[in-house]
Order: sequence, then structure tokens, then C-alpha cells
Amino acid sequence: MALIFNCQDCNQPFSVPENLCGTAYSCPHCGFRMSLDRSESVGQIDGADTDVGMSYDENNGASDEMPGDMPEWATDQETLEKMLLQANPMARLSYWMGLLSLIPCIGFPIAFMAIRLGIRGLKNCFSSSEAGGLGFALAGVSLGTLVLVAYFALIFFALRGLFG
Ligand SMILES: [Zn+2]
Repeated sequence: MALIFNCQDCNQPFSVPENLCGTAYSCPHCGFRMSLDRSESVGQIDGADTDVGMSYDENNGASDEMPGDMPEWATDQETLEKMLLQANPMARLSYWMGLLSLIPCIGFPIAFMAIRLGIRGLKNCFSSSEAGGLGFALAGVSLGTLVLVAYFALIFFALRGLFG
């Protein structure tokens, strides 16, 4: 069984395995440390949480049943997406593809990928001010374009040499 408490600092509800009551406990929302007295609990969740020493995290499924309590993964997902946006991996990948495309022969398709990824990276940058990697995306698109132009020039001169 788990007991539900309201945080004494941020007032958000969270669940605590019954056996941890009476110990010092950190609020999962704001980190406020408090000692939990059984009589202060505002509710309880019946369930399988009778294991000794079970932590709040392992016990997360139970807390999801609480109305109004945001599951932890939801906030984590947001942070993750934000981090992903800031890192803008498309832009970085585009940059590396751009560098790889400089390798003769195999560079041709890689240059295409560098440009495509770079454009997606650029779109990220334009759609959100938090997105990073603008330099990477620009470098990837420029390198890719440069390599493509070089290949076309090469093909052009090769054909002219053959037939000219
Ligand atoms: Zn709190």
C-alpha cells in the first residue's frame, strides 16, 4: 500500500510506500525534504507496494492513478524534447555528412543526405528560437551543395573530354 501526501512546500500530491512513512522524504516535484507522518496523509493507494525498501521511482505506476498528479515521464519527455531541439542532431549530422561527402566517389549520395538533413536542421532553427546547431546546418548544406556542384562540374568536363 502507498500513502498520498501533499508536499509541504509546493503542495503537489505524491505517493509514498507505506513502509517509508516516518522517514525523511524528498518531494518528487520540488525536492523539498520533509518528514512524513502517517496522520498527515491525504489518501492511500491499495496495491502491491508492500515490498520493503521500495523507492518512489520503482513505485511510479501507483502514483499514475492519482488524479491531477502529472506522471514523471511527462515532464521528462518535455525536457528530452527540449534538449533534442537544442542539440539539433539533424544539423550536426548534416555537418558530418557534408564532411564525409568530400570523400571522392562515395560522396555523391552523401552530399544529398547532407543537404536534406541540413534543410531539416535549418527548419528546426527557424521554427524555434531554442534550437541550436544553426552553424552546423548551414555548414552541412553548404558542403553538400559544394560537393554536388563539384560532381556535376566533374561530370560535365568528363563528358566534354570524351565527346569534345
Ligand atoms: Zn514539493
